[in-house]
Amino acid sequence: LHHAKAAGRDTHRFYAEAMNTEAVAHLSTRSGLRRALERGEFLVHYQPQVSLETGAVIGAEALLRWNHPDKGMVPPGAFIPIAEDSGLIVPIGAWVLAEACRQGAAWQARGLSLSVAVNLSALQLQRSDLVRTVTGALDGSGLDPLLLELELTESMLIQNTDVVMDNLRRIKAMGVQVSIDDFGTGYSNLSYIGRLAVDKLKIDRSFVADLTSNHDSAKITAAVIQLAHGLNLTAVAEGVEDAATLAALRQLNCDVAQGYFLGRPGPADAVEHAARQVNPFKVGV
Ligand code: C2E
Ligand code: MG
Ligand code: MG
Ligand code: MG
Repeated sequence: LHHAKAAGRDTHRFYAEAMNTEAVAHLSTRSGLRRALERGEFLVHYQPQVSLETGAVIGAEALLRWNHPDKGMVPPGAFIPIAEDSGLIVPIGAWVLAEACRQGAAWQARGLSLSVAVNLSALQLQRSDLVRTVTGALDGSGLDPLLLELELTESMLIQNTDVVMDNLRRIKAMGVQVSIDDFGTGYSNLSYIGRLAVDKLKIDRSFVADLTSNHDSAKITAAVIQLAHGLNLTAVAEGVEDAATLAALRQLNCDVAQGYFLGRPGPADAVEHAARQVNPFKVGV
């Protein structure tokens, strides 16, 4: 009993200390994030998206990075939740949109018709100024709206408030593409897909990762591709890490693939380099 009590007390103290450290880190990151935006410490990396039919690079996903003066390159998982809690994701997200559209327009001006996919947060989708932000990014850059794609998650679409519905309707009317990110991990009510005129389903990395070794993952991936095609949507696989997975996805008639095997997120130049080659990843050869 004595031991249990002591252990309990230790556990309690451990959590209290951990929470305190976390709170401090949280605070410093919050003010750090505000400064980062002002000082231009954010940058966007791009990960190529490859057609499984032709092997060509057809687009890229914009992935936010924070080049912290002391910590170096900070991945989004470490600061986006804080940016969301503090509401800073709204100006940060607007910056990503503008930057990604600028890059897409630069590619367009250099003769490359690559789509640019930008991740949105729930908070951005809930705001009545989202359409103005998207229009501003498109007009400011000159990017063809058909080349912009917005990535949403399933959980963002079950809150079908008037603002969210109106935003999506107006974004679609502009010709901007909409994809569902991490598909298969969220809510199981699929009625929003038809109602919202979504364009693409991005099969979550957790299914793709063990596609060639796990029977359930293979079945789920096949089913999502069939669902996409049944609804006239494009199926995109994320997290392709080897040639065998790529081959399996082609076998399943998946349309587009993205993953470390095809290119890690990096500077825009790397995507451009790959896009200028014919079938750079020798898909299907
Ligand atoms: P996501 O949108 O699902 O992006 C894909 C993530 O998987 C990226 O992580 C990417 O680097 C990683 N990835 C790509 N291929 C592979 C692979 O073959 N294997 C493995 N293990 N991972 C792969 P990243 O860049 O750390 O981004 C994490 C998440 O942060 C994103 O997930 C997205 O939800 C969020 N995020 C990134 N940029 C933004 C942004 O500008 N705004 C918002 N709201 N969220 C963002
Ligand atoms: Mg994404
Ligand atoms: Mg994803
Ligand atoms: Mg994700």
